[in-house]
Amino acid sequence: MRKTVLFTITIILAGLFFMNVNGFADAAEKIKSSSGAGAEVPDSGFLNEAVDIFRQYLAIDTTNPPGNEMKTALFLKKILDREGIENRIIDLGSNRANVFAVVRGNGELKPVVLFHHMDVVSADAGFWTHPPFEAQIANGMIYARGTMDIKGKGIVDLMTLIYIKRKDIKLKRDIIFLAVSDEESGSIGSKKMIGEYSYLIKNAEYLLDEGGSITCDDKGEITGVSVSIGEKTPLWLTLTFKGEPGHGSVPLPDSSVNKAVKAAGNIINRKPEFIILPELAGMVENAVGVKALEKIPGWKGNTEESLKNREFQAELAKDPEINAFMTNTIAVTMLKGSDKVNIIPNEASISLDCRLMPGTDKDGFIREIVKLSGDPGVKVSVDEYTPTLSSPADSAMVKAIAKSVSKKAPGVKTVPVLMFSSTDGSFYRSLGIKSYGFEPYKATKSQYNSAHGNDERIGVENFKFGIPLLLDILMELDK
Ligand SMILES: [Zn+2]
Repeated sequence: MRKTVLFTITIILAGLFFMNVNGFADAAEKIKSSSGAGAEVPDSGFLNEAVDIFRQYLAIDTTNPPGNEMKTALFLKKILDREGIENRIIDLGSNRANVFAVVRGNGELKPVVLFHHMDVVSADAGFWTHPPFEAQIANGMIYARGTMDIKGKGIVDLMTLIYIKRKDIKLKRDIIFLAVSDEESGSIGSKKMIGEYSYLIKNAEYLLDEGGSITCDDKGEITGVSVSIGEKTPLWLTLTFKGEPGHGSVPLPDSSVNKAVKAAGNIINRKPEFIILPELAGMVENAVGVKALEKIPGWKGNTEESLKNREFQAELAKDPEINAFMTNTIAVTMLKGSDKVNIIPNEASISLDCRLMPGTDKDGFIREIVKLSGDPGVKVSVDEYTPTLSSPADSAMVKAIAKSVSKKAPGVKTVPVLMFSSTDGSFYRSLGIKSYGFEPYKATKSQYNSAHGNDERIGVENFKFGIPLLLDILMELDK
């Protein structure tokens, strides 16, 4: 997951899916009867094998930059070859690569892509209690860079594929395994896939990427489940201001630096308009709780009505995460002036990380910023703009996830969410593939927050949980 400091996930966007409660034993029966090949639920031997492969995968350092994902690609290829699974490496040059593999279904339904990125962000070993590239186990947890983001999902995907192949489970869809390079930086891997190699995946109906999650408490009890269906649109801008240069001993009121600082101040103090999505009520009820909402000034008897009230909106927006889902946000993240203390420079700039709500007009938003800057002569450059698309919240995939999860956590709602930050999922939505963020293992909030942080870790049992669950989801999707 790139362009975010923490894996501060999501916010709930809509709906609830309350499904019939079965048990995994039932699922096992169904797998047996549909495949006819005795495909029981993965046993502990298989899950322990998964943990071994996971730890080997984590021990390969794919810190990006430079990535060097060819090392993990060759590691995965060796396993896929050994299992007799059709696969290929797509060489991206500079020791970088993607891996594509597939277990064929009978073609009755369109393929599903199980997707992850092989690169990880850097880790400063000095701040870790266990080395970030040794995958040591302590207190029932695996410590390594990439456990949560996102090599764990990669191995859940891989082992599910291997299980389907070994047990000769006959599905209606091809199950594609796709591992790419460079998600944490420039997404060269995914750009290659939606360009030159789109023929390998463009027929797919669904793609499962990182994003939505299964949150649990310290005892492993599931407390919340989300599936991400889309993302806010990132817009990165640099505003460059010009002014007379001079010596620092003679301040100039209209200097480039003064203009930049004034503009930054105006932007920080702006009062953004609230954009209330119809699904926001369900989201805040889930995130805050109705009892707590009733105490917020401006409460009007129910959440929908209250959300129309400006006072209530403003109180809610004091929570930075809720605010991020009620407004187009702007974070001033970079300031650049002179590189010498006694020189007033010709130019000064500020960089802005803006995240736009669905349906926001980019050009209108930029015009608003120029006005706010107070300098009509300011030069605006768009450093990044990737319009994002959303996938439907009521598709067969979302329903399959909700149903499979409900067997393990009766009564827990699976809620579609939007994400603050960007993933590669947007690229695949542009091909018309319904792409969802869903990580099938369980993790506590503090484990999610360890992604991109120190002591990134996942519980061994919580990791194992993901494999039978993903298998069950694919079986549900086959019905
Ligand atoms: Zn990631």
